[in-house]
Amino acid sequence: MGEFPSIVVTGTPGTGKTTLCRLLEDELNKEFSGGFSHVDLAQEVLRHQLYRTWNERFNVPEFDEDLVCDFLQERLLTGGLIVEFHSTGFLPRDWFSWVAVLRAGNTQIYDRLAERGYNDDKLRENVECEIFNVVMDEVTEAFDAAIVIELQSNEPADVENNLQLLLNKIKEKIN
Ligand code: ADP
Repeated sequence: MGEFPSIVVTGTPGTGKTTLCRLLEDELNKEFSGGFSHVDLAQEVLRHQLYRTWNERFNVPEFDEDLVCDFLQERLLTGGLIVEFHSTGFLPRDWFSWVAVLRAGNTQIYDRLAERGYNDDKLRENVECEIFNVVMDEVTEAFDAAIVIELQSNEPADVENNLQLLLNKIKEKIN
């Protein structure tokens, strides 16, 4: 679908998805002028009301799988998507060339989310999510192991390494 390949970047909140996706979008668009777009799905769920129920405990929408897929399918036709989301198991397995899973240590996740102002409940929930491999397990179940890329994201040097690794894969596929 589309002229350029698409990728999903997933991981527990605080692992560095937004940071990496923004850099990836910038770098790719320098070379493929506007061919790639970063889609922060959590934001799109809110903006386009891609939900039918609201989670009162965490005060967040519970995204609707069909609405999200319809939203993505339209955009996949026009170009390379860099999709960022914490959940992936509901995505059709042939839409994306790669699924990158960012990983980080407990203290890194705790510190980054505490800085974001998360309360104790949300901090615990997210640190546990990473400890229990929730995001990785969902990816492993849903996608072919050949397209899954697990990336450590503990320190700034990891951002640069992960960026280069993904850039290389994407450029290789285009050329
Ligand atoms: P996510 O989108 O997964 O919630 P963000 O990209 O918003 O994560 O990153 C959370 C915080 O951690 C930000 O302050 C960001 O600058 C920082 N960060 C992201 N990746 C790394 C990394 N590899 N090393 C150190 N800090 C990072």
